[in-house]
Amino acid sequence: MQLYMPTKVYSEENCVVNHAAELRALGTKAMLVTGKHSAKATGALHDVLQALGETPYVIFDAIEENPSVETVMAARKIAVEEGVDFFIGIGGGSPMDAAKAIALMTANPEETEAVLYETKALPHLPVACIPTTCGTGSEVTPYAILTRHAHKTKRSISHKIFPVLALLDGKYLRHLSRNGLVNTCTDALGHLFESYLNTNANDLNSIYAREGLQLWAQFRDRLLADAVEAGDYETMLHASLLAGMAIAHTGTSLPHGMSYPVTYTLNIPHGRAVGLFLGGFVDTYEDKVRAQKALELAGFADAAALRGYLRQLLGAAQLPEELLQSGAEKLLEDPAKLKNYPFAITAQQLVAMVN
Ligand code: NAP
Ligand code: ZN
Repeated sequence: MQLYMPTKVYSEENCVVNHAAELRALGTKAMLVTGKHSAKATGALHDVLQALGETPYVIFDAIEENPSVETVMAARKIAVEEGVDFFIGIGGGSPMDAAKAIALMTANPEETEAVLYETKALPHLPVACIPTTCGTGSEVTPYAILTRHAHKTKRSISHKIFPVLALLDGKYLRHLSRNGLVNTCTDALGHLFESYLNTNANDLNSIYAREGLQLWAQFRDRLLADAVEAGDYETMLHASLLAGMAIAHTGTSLPHGMSYPVTYTLNIPHGRAVGLFLGGFVDTYEDKVRAQKALELAGFADAAALRGYLRQLLGAAQLPEELLQSGAEKLLEDPAKLKNYPFAITAQQLVAMVN
C-alpha cells in the first residue's frame, strides 16, 4: 500500500494573494491558462496578476470545455515562442487539465502531439492550479483528460503530471450557475464513489473517499433544494479536493468510462454525464457491504435513494439506446478502463446503469 500526494495545497480566503511568493517561485515567466470568461468573472485572474507582481506572463484564454489536443498544441506554440517556464491553470477541470498537457509539450518542443498518448518518460514544467469549480479535483490529480477528435472521444493523456501547488478559495464558486454547481458537485460525488468502490481501493487510500463522502453529505440536501448557503462553498471545494486525492490513488471506474462518449456525442457536461450512470453503478456493485458503507457515508439509506436523489438533481437521462450500447461495447473492449472494476460486467448491465 502506498500514499502519494505530492501537491502542496493551501485553502483559505484570499489564498492566491496570501501565497504569492510560492507562486512566483515556480519560474521566471508564466503562462496563465484559462477559459474565455470565468477566470475574469470570478476574480481569480485578478488575484493571480496581483500575486505575480513584476513576474512576466502571457495569458492563453482559449481553453474550451473538454479541451482538445489541438488547443493544447496551439498553446504550446505560444509558450515556446514566449519562453514560458511555468504554468498556472485557472478555472475548472478544462483549463487545469490543459495546463498540465501544455507544460509537458512545452518542456519537449521537438515532440509532436502523438507523444501525449505514448508511454515515454518525459520531463514537464511546473504547474500550479487554482480551481473555480468543485468537481474535478484536477488541482491534485496527475490526470489531464483531452478530447481526441480523431477518436471521437476523450481520454486522459498517458503522462502523470501532478501540479506542484494548488491554491483554493471558496469565493470563486459563488459565480457558478446552478447547473455549474450541480454538475461539478456530481462529478466529485462520482469520484468519491468510484474511488471507494474500486479494485485499487485499500485501507490507506480510502481515507480520502471516506472523508469526502461525509463532507458531501453536509450540503447534499441544500444542493438539491437550490438553497446553498455561503458556508457550503468551502465544503464543496474540500469534498472535490478529497475526491481528487482519492482518484489520484485509485483512478475512476465505469461511470466515467460510460460518460466520455456521451459528453463527446451529446455535449452533456462531464459531471452530469457521470451522474447519469452513478446510481446504477453503486446499485450494481457486487460487494454490497462496501457499497452500503459508501452510501451511508454520503447520507443515503440505500442505492435506490441515491438513484432517486440523482434523478431529481439531474433529471432523467433520455440517452439514445444506440449510444449507450456502443459506449458499453467500447468500454468492454478496453482493459485499461475495466481494470478498476473488480467484478465481471456485461454490456447489458452497463446499459442498465443509466438513470
Ligand atoms: P470546465 O469545463 O472547466 O468549465 C465548465 C464551464 O464552467 C465553462 O464554461 C467555464 O467557463 C465555467 N466556469 C468555471 N468556473 C466558473 C465559475 N466559478 N463561475 C462561473 N462559471 C465558471 O468544467 P469542469 O467540470 O470543472 O471540468 C470538466 C473537465 O475536467 C472535463 O474535461 C473532464 O473530463 C475533466 N476532468 C478532469 C479530471 C482530472 O482528474 N484531471 C477529473 C474529472 C474531470 P470558462 O470556459 O470561461 O472558464
Ligand atoms: Zn470526473
